[in-house]
Amino acid sequence: MTRVYNFSAGPACLPEWVLTKAASEMLDAHNSGMSVMEMSHRSSEFQDIIDTCKARLKRLMNIPDEYEILFLQGGASLQFTMIPLNLEKHNVDLINTGQWTKKALKEHKKLGKVNVVASSEEDNFTYIPKIKQEDLSEDSDYVYICENNTIYGTKYKELPPHEGKLLVADLSSCILSERTDVSKYDLIFAGAQKNMGPAGLTVVIIKKDLIGLADEKTPSMLNYKTYADNDSMFNTPPTYSIYICGLVLEWLETQIGGLENMEKINRKKAKLLYDYIDASKLYSNPVVPEDRSYTNVPFVTSDKNLDTKFVKEAKEAGIVNIKGHRTVGGMRASIYNAMPLEGVEALIAFMKKFEEENY
Ligand code: PMP
Repeated sequence: MTRVYNFSAGPACLPEWVLTKAASEMLDAHNSGMSVMEMSHRSSEFQDIIDTCKARLKRLMNIPDEYEILFLQGGASLQFTMIPLNLEKHNVDLINTGQWTKKALKEHKKLGKVNVVASSEEDNFTYIPKIKQEDLSEDSDYVYICENNTIYGTKYKELPPHEGKLLVADLSSCILSERTDVSKYDLIFAGAQKNMGPAGLTVVIIKKDLIGLADEKTPSMLNYKTYADNDSMFNTPPTYSIYICGLVLEWLETQIGGLENMEKINRKKAKLLYDYIDASKLYSNPVVPEDRSYTNVPFVTSDKNLDTKFVKEAKEAGIVNIKGHRTVGGMRASIYNAMPLEGVEALIAFMKKFEEENY
């Protein structure tokens, strides 16, 4: 068996501890004589899996009691529609930091008024625009941000001012990578496939008093209340994704020791890589240093052909899915929780060798 170092932006690598445990439970999970994939979502075994998963998430992220945790489907993208449908008033102040806020903008516009408060598009989203309270519109109900921009490798280090307004944030590519003060947000959402588990599961963490505000004509499957009232099991939930997410959370608690430790490891990984890129003559990272992401690190050489050669040779060396997003080009190393420090060290060793051979 040869495992590669998988730098995919998502679906992304999972901790080997999780995969091994899932494999060992493939034929007989929780003494049920069957795989979790074969279990009824109404069984007591699955009820225990989903309850434990939720409890672990609440504990790890220190989620206050006033918040509800919902397990949904439809990807993070469905939230671009569900959020304006569910927040009764939907005049939004949106900060445009890339493709994922542009897609959110497109859907929000169908349902409410959207004001783009600031945008870094003119610089190909290489920084996070800083706004002031007075930049917000008087009649907006919430401020919408994408906290970590997977494609461009930018991240908010401080949340924008939003006095008198709700704060709604897409944490798809940074959730669980560091400590988060959930009480600063009104709604957090994230697709699971980067840092929480496999694709198919979307997690929403929402203030309880924001549930039940949707218009009564809202389709049941798009109403947060339906999921809140039915413990996320109004219909069949993505059972296997929830199970694996539960194992990832168990790994974070028992093997890593919680988010404070995870944050330390992630900072170390990111610093190693950025320091190397900044010191190198061949590679560069286009993002302004104070806005750099800890989980997605794009980098380029100055030559497109050399970038292509890099991606090809990296693959031969067991470093895969390192090609950058087509809108940015070059390379991107996604170094989520499950990417071990050794993976980042292996990448840097390969980058050094490639630099020596090609510069
Ligand atoms: N938001 C962010 C920040 C993302 O990176 C992605 C996916 N890469 C999405 C939203 C969309 O997620 P999904 O494919 O689950 O709809």
